[in-house]
Amino acid sequence: MNEKIALISGANKGIGLEVARQLGKQGMIVLVGARSLQKAEQAVEELQAELIQAYPIKLDVTDPEHIRSAANRIEKEYGKLDVLVNNAGIYVDHEGTDVDVIRRGFETNFFGAYALTTSLLHLLKLSPAGRIVNQSSILGSIGTILTNEMYGRASAPAYTTSKAALNAWTAQLSIQLRDTPIKVNACHPGWVKTEMGGSDAVMEIHEGAETAVYLATLSGDGPTGGMFHKQEALPW
Ligand code: NDP
Repeated sequence: MNEKIALISGANKGIGLEVARQLGKQGMIVLVGARSLQKAEQAVEELQAELIQAYPIKLDVTDPEHIRSAANRIEKEYGKLDVLVNNAGIYVDHEGTDVDVIRRGFETNFFGAYALTTSLLHLLKLSPAGRIVNQSSILGSIGTILTNEMYGRASAPAYTTSKAALNAWTAQLSIQLRDTPIKVNACHPGWVKTEMGGSDAVMEIHEGAETAVYLATLSGDGPTGGMFHKQEALPW
């Protein structure tokens, strides 16, 4: 199959939906992952109206059965996966600092991305140019929160530690995959006007999707094993 296949988790709204739109406009077949099939179908309708080849996929990244069935379907229908954007994420820190809250943050932000990626790795290896984008945050950059007063003030243990874990694993996975064409990078989208980012955020959604789209479409001589915002490498 010549067309590129991209799976985006949490693509029913926000940055994920816009990443699906921008990749679809580049001619990729986009699989719109969402934990509610109905929400995935609504997003797909919107994208198809813009002549994008989009298909819904029921995918709660904390549900092993959803992950298994997504992987089986992609294997059967396309026989490969070119782009995986681990975009699904939650911010639960307003619920407190109990260990259960931290665990919940990790379930989606880290274990969800880990489980989905490892279940799809054999299909990404069948692509001539597999790309994995882990939607992270500057709040997961330990170097930044220790040295930047603005970010350092944000006390959000579930979010920061789960994104820091995602970052550490991004680096680890890039080493594991260095003898393959697959590139894996973490992405800081910026502070974006979505349900999570809120209305005070400084970036519009189309701009917030740009870094992930850049990393999903890197050429063969592009970087791997880094964290980026707008093509600029950020410290871990
Ligand atoms: P939104 O809250 O608007 O969207 C989050 C998406 O993730 C929704 O589609 C949501 O689905 C989905 N999701 C949540 N939990 C799961 C799950 N278990 N399985 C599958 N999907 C799930 O957030 P944004 O678009 O702003 O965020 C997208 C990513 O970007 C996140 O990883 C976030 O951490 C990151 N980010 C965002 C920033 C911002 O300023 N907005 C800044 C830095 C990073 P549902 O509709 O069902 O809830």
